[in-house]
Amino acid sequence: MRLGVEAALVDGLLVRGDVELSDGRVVGIGLAAPNGRGIVVPGFVDLQVNGFGGVDFLDADADGYRRAGEALLETGVTAYLPTLITTPEQQLLAAIAEVPDGEARPRVLGLHLEGPFLSPNRLGTHEASARRDPDPALLDRLLDAGPVRLMTLAPELPGAEILIDRLLERGVAVSIGHTDATAAQANAAFDRGARSVTHLFNAMRPFLHRDPGIVGAALARDDVVVSIILDGIHLAPETAKTIWRAARGRTALVTDAITGAGAAEGSYSLGNLDVHVHEGTVRGPDGVLAGSVLTMVEAVRNLLELGVPLEDAVEAATSTPARVLGERELGRLDVGLPADIVVLDDSLGIERVLVAGEVRVTV
Ligand code: ZN
Repeated sequence: MRLGVEAALVDGLLVRGDVELSDGRVVGIGLAAPNGRGIVVPGFVDLQVNGFGGVDFLDADADGYRRAGEALLETGVTAYLPTLITTPEQQLLAAIAEVPDGEARPRVLGLHLEGPFLSPNRLGTHEASARRDPDPALLDRLLDAGPVRLMTLAPELPGAEILIDRLLERGVAVSIGHTDATAAQANAAFDRGARSVTHLFNAMRPFLHRDPGIVGAALARDDVVVSIILDGIHLAPETAKTIWRAARGRTALVTDAITGAGAAEGSYSLGNLDVHVHEGTVRGPDGVLAGSVLTMVEAVRNLLELGVPLEDAVEAATSTPARVLGERELGRLDVGLPADIVVLDDSLGIERVLVAGEVRVTV
């Protein structure tokens, strides 16, 4: 099947010409096509999705995952990590058990557990009574309950290094977040194998000139991916630009989307918390920011608005987040790779979304 497009984005380079698919894979790029329209880019990869399209992953069943998946596909996401925030153990275990298998579309890459081993001082809207200090036995119970791919934790907590070692041993990527870590504590965690920071600047020790904290540590290194919620609310534009200048090529866009994303304004649940969505902002009862209703294609457009070229903005939504999980083929478009792709029109609207070569969305 030929896509009939004008160009394709291949590892950060725009290659003119049409794209051909066969057996769910890309088999040709740069093929002569006089009247091609639109640009093919890799499908978006979102490392942090709490809920979507009216569905909360903390209490979603198979049908909920299907509905959330369809709404995510409409926004260009072809692979993601359903994300569970800090919640009592029994509720977490039940939610972990509901994660769909490898046949789901978009692809469910496994879970992101954001908690419960977080700083009591940087919880944001996470449920304080469900927060825990590092507890290897609890960690094992969570990892045994289902396919966890990524865990966000606070490395300054007593015994956190044992958790980091165990997570890495079990093939789970470690991200640092909801943390009061100093630069020294953050660097120790990165040296130990943590490879990313969860929503840089939000819910962490602030950056000060003589106390740069985790933010300074992460921006000063070359080997750490920082994720950002680029919704125009979580970060001032100057902050986002500064992050980009320090961490171009290692900044990952995440949505941190909640139930109300891809759905109407109003009240929704985020775990056991009632949150309100109004004019694109999500707040808990105390007024604290509680996730977003951002979609990944909007995040890409917001990055373009900061002056970032399309090639780089797409990487921030595709191969860079994939790298956090150690996935080398995911989030890329090239001959021989699975055809998980998005066709964008001239105004960067989504025209088609394909997973494994199968058309899932057409506009
Ligand atoms: Zn968070």
